Amino acid sequence: MNIIIFGPPGAGKGTQAKKIKEQFNLNHISTGDLLRSAIENKSEIGLKAEGFIREGKLVPDEIIMEIITKELAEGKNFSGFLLDGFPRNINQAEMLEETLRRLNKKIDHVINLEASEETIIERICGRRICLKCGKIYHIKFSPPTVDNKCDNCGESLTHRDDDKEETIKKRLKVFQEQTVPVFDYYRKKNLLRIIDGNSSESVVFNGILEVLQ
Ligand code: AMP
Repeated sequence: MNIIIFGPPGAGKGTQAKKIKEQFNLNHISTGDLLRSAIENKSEIGLKAEGFIREGKLVPDEIIMEIITKELAEGKNFSGFLLDGFPRNINQAEMLEETLRRLNKKIDHVINLEASEETIIERICGRRICLKCGKIYHIKFSPPTVDNKCDNCGESLTHRDDDKEETIKKRLKVFQEQTVPVFDYYRKKNLLRIIDGNSSESVVFNGILEVLQ
């Protein structure tokens, strides 16, 4: 099963993606995670992408396609893939379709996780992540056992620069302008499944399981 998950920043996309990939043994491909680790490693792609991310802008499509094409061609030990954070605009959606056609693969479901602005701001301002293992925390809803340390690997937690309020506003605007039109693209293909992301983690996950099974 091949899935795309959409959601504005703070809709719980990353958290739900981790649960979905475990449930269905999917290759979780998050362009945001791939870019953050490229920045950490100071690779050529990381250096090119860094400024765009810091400013809350989309990274140019050519850079994204370079990382995504490689990932899509891999994943032999999985039952499919879960795309998280990609495609972010119509051009990427069209390039994805072309790439999948060449690889003889197709998308089965597109999940759109919806959340109100109130939910988004509350979740993002409290979000902390572990850059080493990718685990996501929330200072109020899912705090680590030891203050500011990852439960899995003990690494200090990070408040992403692009999770600060000014950048969030820009990211939400970019999402409205560039990513929302992609929903129509998949609605026309009869692949779009809308999920209410305002509830608790487990209620949202059950809603997702219902539409996938
Ligand atoms: P995310 O973790 O998915 O919210 O991504 C963090 C940031 O990485 C975004 O605000 C963009 O700057 C960049 N990014 C991630 N995925 C993409 C994409 N598919 N296209 C362009 N930029 C992206």
